[in-house]
Order: sequence, then C-alpha cells, then structure tokens
Amino acid sequence: MIELWGEAVRSIEALVKPSQREQWLRPIQCIGISEGRIRLRAPNRYHKEWFEDNYLPSILQDLETRTQSSFTVDFEISDGEVTSPPRVSTPTPTVDLCPVPAISPGLEPRYTFDKFVVGPTNQFAHAAARMVADAPASKWNPLFIYGGVGLGKTHLLHAIGHEIHRQHPDWKITFITCERFVTDFIGSMMNQRRQGGVNLMEEFRARYRDQPDVLLVDDIQFLSNKDSSQDEFFHTFNALHHAHKQIVLTCDKLPGELSGLADRLRSRFTWGLLTEIGHPDLETRVAILKRKAELESLVLPDDVALYIAAHVKSNVRELEGALLHLSARASMAGLLMSKEFAEETLRKLIATTRTGLTIEAIQREVAAYFDVKLADLKGPKRHRAVAHPRMIAMYLARRLTAMSYPEIGSRFGGKDHSTVISAVRKIERLAAEDPGLRSVVGTLESHLRQG
Ligand code: ADP
Ligand code: MG
Repeated sequence: MIELWGEAVRSIEALVKPSQREQWLRPIQCIGISEGRIRLRAPNRYHKEWFEDNYLPSILQDLETRTQSSFTVDFEISDGEVTSPPRVSTPTPTVDLCPVPAISPGLEPRYTFDKFVVGPTNQFAHAAARMVADAPASKWNPLFIYGGVGLGKTHLLHAIGHEIHRQHPDWKITFITCERFVTDFIGSMMNQRRQGGVNLMEEFRARYRDQPDVLLVDDIQFLSNKDSSQDEFFHTFNALHHAHKQIVLTCDKLPGELSGLADRLRSRFTWGLLTEIGHPDLETRVAILKRKAELESLVLPDDVALYIAAHVKSNVRELEGALLHLSARASMAGLLMSKEFAEETLRKLIATTRTGLTIEAIQREVAAYFDVKLADLKGPKRHRAVAHPRMIAMYLARRLTAMSYPEIGSRFGGKDHSTVISAVRKIERLAAEDPGLRSVVGTLESHLRQG
C-alpha cells in the first residue's frame, strides 16, 4: 500500500521544482496506509502545514482517482531524524542486504562545524566535538553527546566525520544510525541462517569491527531492550576501542538514564567524555535563524528573526521549520518577510498548541453568531445564508485548530477536502478585500480565543 503513496507523490513531482521537491516532498514519510487512512510523518509542524496546504491536495487527488476510494490523512511529527522507513519485510537471500558503506562516509553535506552556531548551551559539546575531530582517539573515547530532540546532536556527529575526513582523506569513517546497525545485524543473522555457506556475519563484523578508523553512531538509545544487538555492539565497541579507533555516540539521554541497557555497555559509554547539548537561549536562536537565512539566501529582517526566536522555543528543528515556512509563504504571496507578515502567518501555528479549541466550539460560535442551526451549518444546504457561515467556520477551524483539510471536511457532514480548501481560500481572499468581513472574522476569532 505504501507504494501507492510513492506513486502519487511521483505523479506530482514533475510539476514541482527540484529544489522544492528536496525541501518539501522528500522529508515527508508515509508510514502506513490502511482502511482508508494514510499515516504520514513530517519533520515539524511548520513543514506539515506547508505540505498540507500546497502538495497534499494534489497528491490525494491523484491517489483517489487511481484507487477510486477516499482517504483521510493523519500526521505525526517526527521527533527524530527523517530517515528512510525501517525495513519491514525480511529481505530475500539474494538481496545485498547491507551494502558496504562507501569510502565517502555518507555524511550530510550541510552538517559541518562552520554551519553550527555556538552558544552557551552547546559550546562545551561543540568544543569537545572539535577536539575529537582534531585528534581522534587520543583522549576521549568514546565521545558521548546527549540531549533532547532537534538540538544538534546529529549535526555535530556529522561535523566530526567531515572534519576527520578532511584531515585524513584515506581513513574509513563509518557513520550509521543505531537503528540501521540493528537492522543490518538482524538481517545478516537471519540470512546467514538461511543461506548456510556464505558468511554474512563475518562480513558484518568486518564492516563494523575491523574496517572503520572512526565509528559514528547516531541515536544509540535505540539499543534499549535489544539484547542480542547490544551484545553485538558490545563486541564492536571493544574491538574498536582496543584498536584505538575513535567512537562517537549520540543519545537522547545520559547512559545512566537509558533503560534496558546492559551494565557493561552503560559503563563503557562513560569511559570517555559525556557532553550535553541543551536548549539554545534567545540570542543563540536569533543567531541560528540569521545563519540559516544567510545559507538559504533569504532576507530576514532583525525584528522578524527576533519574533520567530521569541515564539519558537522548542528546538532548532522547529526554528528552522518556522523560518522556511514563512519564507515559502512570503515568496508565494510576493511579499517581503515583515514582522506583521510573520505574526500573521505564524500566529496560528504558534497558537494552536495553546488555544486548545475544538471544532465543535467553533461551529457553535459561528452558528450562534449568524443565527443558523448547527445542523444546517454542518449539513448539505447550499443557500448563501448557511453556505457563507459554513465557509467562515471552516476557515476558523483551519486557523485555530491543528486539523487537516480532510479532517475538517469530515466534521462538516463528510465534505471533501477540496471543498474545505476552496472555502478557506475564498474567505482569505474576501477578507483581504472587505473590511466588514474582516471585522466579523476578527470578532469571532477573538471571542473563541477568549473562550
Ligand atoms: P538532533 O540530532 O539533536 O535531534 P539535529 O542535529 O538533527 O538534532 O538538528 C536539527 C536541525 O537543527 C538540523 O537541521 C541542524 O542543522 C540544526 N541545528 C541544530 N543545532 C544547530 C546549531 N547550533 N547551529 C545551526 N544549526 C543547528
Ligand atoms: Mg538526531
């Protein structure tokens, strides 16, 4: 079923600029389709929102024409890396399950030291990473970088890889997510059993124990409660450590806080240096935004940077998401990113988590204001006296809740997502021209916000 999604995405790809494809389509993962529900994973809320408004409707349309059925879409926001979906099926023995990582370590080109903004909450981790990159395996082995989601752990890990590669181009740098290590390991083991003769486990071990000069493992918390993978990693670790090869690990918590981890591994993780990355402070958030804008050649006025930084505090990934969302909207509207534009555009995204408004509350408020029956507002009647309030209710639902177009449609008596989209666009357009409507919508919104 997931292939269906891939096909639908490809069908619209031709219409999308390659850079947009990379930026907006590629990071959206389909994690499952069943019983008319599509589950998607987006890297952050800003990405979700933009994707939903600009690409989802066409993709759904393609999918629905193709399958002659309708779908609802659920999003989840990934709290980790956007990686390829985990393998679900057991590969056939003939498939090269674990291709040997190429000499080029497969690192993300953007994640270098010079693109990493240093502030009070990451300066120690940054300095440690630099030192390890400059003198691998001389002092701190392993280097263990820990901290919450989206704070730059993976970035630093790749930066170490890039720097070592620059200084020692002939070294073998192996970068791997822990998840991949585990699937590789399990795959090699299963295929080994089935195949007899060919020694896949030997290959696996050579790949991780013998060949690397540097081993970079991302998100080591993935080893929790996976006993045989832990055993394997224990031996990998020992072999490399013994041979004076640098190991760098990232994790979402301290070794001592990892549950389901064997003590012997836990203690090894603390042999070298533990270093934390914390949430960036306001100044650092502003600096990160400016750096990002510079890298993407965006014009970002100071007051806009400050506005975003003051409101998006959760992590750096969200911060970047907010900036890209804003700049995409501004360029589509042919506007410059002003503070007003930023407020207007981000208000909803920033507020949704706070308003906690339900669509029922919005429907009731709108029905009462226009003196129409709730059932009519949600029903099929098309005359203007109900159709107009209905469009406003849809618009407000979109603005004040985190619901998707298809979800909103389903709460108005099963209307199509395209109906909701055109209603929202229509109200936006009319409100821009008509001060009367603007004030009606504004009044409703502020009533709702005040509960
Ligand atoms: P983590 O691995 O901790 O979840 P990432 O390393 O994936 O977080 O970082 C999320 C995003 O934020 C990446 O795009 C990364 O480049 C960016 N980022 C994080 N910290 C910084 C920083 N200090 N300076 C610049 N960009 C950063
Ligand atoms: Mg990461």
